[in-house]
Amino acid sequence: MAYQSTPLVEIHDPAFAEAGIRVMLKREDLNHPYVSGNKWWKLKYNLEKVFQHPSKTLLTFGGAYSNHLYAAAAACHELGFRSIGVVRGEEHPLLNDTLQFAKDRGMQLHYVSRESYRHKTEADFIETLEKEFSSFVLVPEGGSNEEAVQGASEFAASLDPSFDYLCCPVGTGGTLAGLIRGYPPTKTVLGFSALKGAYGMAEEIQRWCPSKTNWQLITDYHFGGYAKFTPDLLQFIVQFKEDHGVPLEPIYTGKMMSGIFDLIKQGFFKRGSTLLAIHTGGLQGKY
Ligand SMILES: *Cc1c(COP(=O)(O)O)cnc(C)c1O
Repeated sequence: MAYQSTPLVEIHDPAFAEAGIRVMLKREDLNHPYVSGNKWWKLKYNLEKVFQHPSKTLLTFGGAYSNHLYAAAAACHELGFRSIGVVRGEEHPLLNDTLQFAKDRGMQLHYVSRESYRHKTEADFIETLEKEFSSFVLVPEGGSNEEAVQGASEFAASLDPSFDYLCCPVGTGGTLAGLIRGYPPTKTVLGFSALKGAYGMAEEIQRWCPSKTNWQLITDYHFGGYAKFTPDLLQFIVQFKEDHGVPLEPIYTGKMMSGIFDLIKQGFFKRGSTLLAIHTGGLQGKY
């Protein structure tokens, strides 16, 4: 899969200067036009598995706006693999941009009711998928599994290790787990949860990197919960683009960046600290 190396840019803001904090942003959103940001790294070893598998088929799950489905469809298209997307909710006659894109990249869309979707990790449900689609490599919703954590950890190991803090947005936590695994244990990794009440997430992250304690899940910047946002957050994103020329979106990266600004204002970081924030992408060609 093509990979474009990405710039590291400093974000200059009067509030940062006043607090004596430096913030750098790794523009990982620019690593691939469609398989962008953390999704490139999370898919890397999963795609390797598909390549090794006789079926050359990837099956995965997502909601109708899923960045993961979008990226998986594009990656499989580029590599000549078959892809199946199990989509939560019923089919609408008019596809939204995400699903239309996935379909155009050859992804076979399989709609299941919200009720059945809840059982997507259960053996019975997976068996019905096997009856319908025969054999495939299954990648869970959001793409988080050991292969994804391994990919994200490789990304972390490629970063300049000298920052005091490494920051990323969190959905399922697979990316955060990889960053924790791959960044030096003497540094602190901060995950900004995009979900409200992400119960059990910290335990899941801990399972992926059991020996690590140098991380924290920040849960104050969900802005109402997953895929929810406020006018203030949208205003922040517009202002950030205007001030720094960097597009963010309201589901993940906008929440993280807004959280970083707020924590700096609150004096969360010691004067002299350096932060490296990861732009995990998710723009899907918008903005
Ligand atoms: C999927 C996604 C995330 C969340 O990654 P997880 O590994 O599920 O925590 C963060 N940012 C963007 C832009 C994403 O698309």
